[in-house]
Amino acid sequence: TTRTKEDVLQKARDYDVKFIRLQFTDIFGAFKNIAVTVEELSRALDGRVMFDSSVIEGFVENRESDIYLQPDPTTFVIFPWRPRDGAVARLICDVRASRDQAYSACSRTVLKNVLQRAEQLGLSFQVGAQIEFFLFHTDAQGKPTVITHDQAGYCDLTPVDLGENARRDMVLTLQEMGFDVSSSHHEVAPGQHEIFLKENDALLTADNIATFKFVVRTIAQRHGLHASFMPRPLAAHNGSGMHLHQFLWRNGENAFYHPADPRQLSDLAYCFIAGLIEHAGALTAIANPLVNSYKRLAPSDLAPVLAAWSEENRATMLRVPAMREEGTRLILRSPDPAANPYLTLAVSLAAGLDGIERNLAPPEPLPENGPNLRLLMQKTGLPRHLSAALAALSGDGEIRRVLGGHITTRYLTAKENEWERYQSRVHQWELDEYLTNF
Ligand code: GLU
Ligand code: MG
Repeated sequence: TTRTKEDVLQKARDYDVKFIRLQFTDIFGAFKNIAVTVEELSRALDGRVMFDSSVIEGFVENRESDIYLQPDPTTFVIFPWRPRDGAVARLICDVRASRDQAYSACSRTVLKNVLQRAEQLGLSFQVGAQIEFFLFHTDAQGKPTVITHDQAGYCDLTPVDLGENARRDMVLTLQEMGFDVSSSHHEVAPGQHEIFLKENDALLTADNIATFKFVVRTIAQRHGLHASFMPRPLAAHNGSGMHLHQFLWRNGENAFYHPADPRQLSDLAYCFIAGLIEHAGALTAIANPLVNSYKRLAPSDLAPVLAAWSEENRATMLRVPAMREEGTRLILRSPDPAANPYLTLAVSLAAGLDGIERNLAPPEPLPENGPNLRLLMQKTGLPRHLSAALAALSGDGEIRRVLGGHITTRYLTAKENEWERYQSRVHQWELDEYLTNF
């Protein structure tokens, strides 16, 4: 691994790297990049590459528009699918307002700030991610369709699973790039796949999730397929989630584990759960960012609908699976892969820390065969549409403070606008349902 500027320069020479892509994310989590030649690498590593922020959505604040990219040397990776001579590499960057000032719209910095807050409490946050996605055919013009590639189901084997080759190629490529892939399998819906990234430090995991989507799309394309991280592309099948396995460590020990407790969970775990439930609405606005996200968060679709926790019940946003000792974890099931991974991890950690700092107590866990779901949804349901989630974010001072004024305002404005655009259309369902009856 590369740790310093010198390591990066050395590796770039060793591998005959010609171009380096400086990657960063906008506030919606989309990867952007600026390519520099290897001759400029040294200057780039000093954080001297500047660009005009007004071209990036959600970025420009007031009139200031020149911002700087500060590459993180530990993120240097050579793209395995590009030619060996004249190789292409990337560095992930923080966005800075100036050499010595962070940029208020940098979501990577937002995550770093919350991680620092955890560190002050002696806690380190690790996250693993089970990311689901669909592989669709492309048409003669190369445009994505919603025709799936196979008719396989959960964990089916070849030859039914035609996406298997593509997925194997994805996993191999990710491993070559240094990813720790726990497992991969065919998901329940036709054409739906899942790749499980093993837990790692939260910042690395956020970088990895952002990179993951870009790698999976690239490899799918090479197989003539389109990889989609849209939360619910097919009405007839359940959607794609991004389940986050969260761990807290203190002095090298799992801080969620406590053998003497009846459930073998620590007070810290209970407070963390309570914090996540307390801020569930605002978290949903970040973790489920699209109009379409809410087509996934529907009852009986294996996706959660309740701001609650459980050990077995999958209708809850949080699940504490049976693993204990070093494996003790909370699985946050509500996020979908369209979310900005930096902000999603930042907000979920901040929510948990708030629970710890305020010593909040969670409600009782929901039993496996919970009481009437509809009734529970009325009392403790997650927001049912984007607009409701945005209202929750808007009313959550703690989470707004974590995101900062710039990101909160830009995010809410853009997303409220997205909701209004959706609401201003008359959808086919309405015509089918109402046109002749009224
Ligand atoms: N696809 C489901 C979701 O939207 C999850 C299925 C599973 O449990 O793996 O979260
Ligand atoms: Mg899954």
